[in-house]
Amino acid sequence: MSATPNFDPAEISRFDSIAQRWWDEHGEFRPLHIMNPVRVDYIDQRVQLKGKTVLDVGCGGGLLTEAMSKYGAAVTGIDLGTTTIDVAKLHALDSKLNIDYRGESAEQHATQRSAYYDVVTCLEMLEHVPDPAAMIETITTLLKPGGHLVFSTLNRNPKAYALAIFGAEYVLKLLPKGTHTYAQFIRPSELAKWSRHAGLEVLDVRGLQFNPLTFTCSLGRDTDVNYLMHLRKSV
Ligand code: SAH
Repeated sequence: MSATPNFDPAEISRFDSIAQRWWDEHGEFRPLHIMNPVRVDYIDQRVQLKGKTVLDVGCGGGLLTEAMSKYGAAVTGIDLGTTTIDVAKLHALDSKLNIDYRGESAEQHATQRSAYYDVVTCLEMLEHVPDPAAMIETITTLLKPGGHLVFSTLNRNPKAYALAIFGAEYVLKLLPKGTHTYAQFIRPSELAKWSRHAGLEVLDVRGLQFNPLTFTCSLGRDTDVNYLMHLRKSV
């Protein structure tokens, strides 16, 4: 594992600067609020969250983290944004949920909790880190043998650019300009290749379609823009 920290400070502060609005359903994180019930349902179908020990990497303000806790998982959430993690902690207190939030990197966490988790989730984060392949390696060390991993990210092709950047940031102004960098989007084939290299097996790939006109979200076969991937660490 590389000793260079695998995060981009500019990305972390950009999220931190809008962290107070993580739980504003009509603010900058509106698309995540809309996607949240669909993605937690998918995760539960794939891994049966109840009673599982789960780590949410790059948890943000805790949208997915809280949802997984409500499904009965024992959840830890890590994020490098200091304001972000404070917002997550406060909101969990308000929601009366027992979630272990830490302002730590995956690399730091891996030194304490190697092979500890039944399930690790890392949603909408890989496209914000400098070396996603190394991040996948680190995350895999946190999983027990046979443990489950769920990623989500944005595919890289002209349609993803048109919808996720031009449409969402410039036309509909759903996301602040500069939220995403096209070159950091990840094709499912790349995610699968890096994951196999880390000792993971791909079990499922599913499209997550966000409709910006109706503000609804559904799962489907179209992985052109947002997609989820379910993987398992070899035993
Ligand atoms: N996973 C959450 C939040 C996605 S936004 C969700 O889907 O609801 C991306 C988050 O990743 C931000 O909160 C940002 O601070 C965090 N992040 C980015 N790079 C990171 C890194 N290297 N380590 C930990 N957190 C990171």
